[in-house]
Amino acid sequence: MTPMIPDVLDLHTHTIASGHAYNTIYEMAYSASQKGVQLLGISDHGPAMEGAASSFYFRASRRVPRSLYGIQLLFGAELNILDFDGKLDLDDESAAPLDYVIASLHVECIKPGSTEDHTAAYLGAMKNPRVMILGHPDDGTFASDYERIAYEAASQKVLIEMNEASFRPGTYRKNTFQNAKDLLLACRKYKTGIIVSSDAHIETDILQHKHALELLEEVEYPQEWIVNTSVEKALQSFSDRREYVKRR
Ligand SMILES: [Zn+2]
Ligand SMILES: [Zn+2]
Repeated sequence: MTPMIPDVLDLHTHTIASGHAYNTIYEMAYSASQKGVQLLGISDHGPAMEGAASSFYFRASRRVPRSLYGIQLLFGAELNILDFDGKLDLDDESAAPLDYVIASLHVECIKPGSTEDHTAAYLGAMKNPRVMILGHPDDGTFASDYERIAYEAASQKVLIEMNEASFRPGTYRKNTFQNAKDLLLACRKYKTGIIVSSDAHIETDILQHKHALELLEEVEYPQEWIVNTSVEKALQSFSDRREYVKRR
């Protein structure tokens, strides 16, 4: 069955600047426009990932057009959490032009620790004012305290990501279906905002959200708290986060 959740955006995608992705910003935007995407986010890997762009790529990114082929474009980054304090791999000046940051744990950039370590890493990353989204927190390689993450994300206005790549056959992430379900049940309790992303590393994967959307339907996640349903809702969630950061 095709999921019934309206889905007009994809904010986790990679370009050739990530070092292991295969299209340019322009190719990604063109493909997104053909698929009816209204808001596309480019989120290349931070500099600590092997083959990724240097900090200069992000620092100069004011030049990137914020609309292409008739669709709205955001330019962000998927930054690497480097330690269990939640330190990210881009300095503040280089991150300044970014529209948003996704914070993720990757084995290429940090050695897994305990559940408490990973939880601390996510909570630490949320202290960074530019972080709007926690990327693929369902990865069992970095299992964390989902109650805690769901609660803190809700109160600090950070979105929890349901990442389609976690559910693709052959994913290197662990126990993702069960973890994602546990996480969503916790999120539902705290009314945590959810974003569904493709994590596309090639244009054909843009807006591939099928398994993630199915899971949201399975747990009857209220559409109200899923930002994919409208561009306004997604952008509002970013302003809510900025407002929260200003006041804390
Ligand atoms: Zn990632
Ligand atoms: Zn990614």
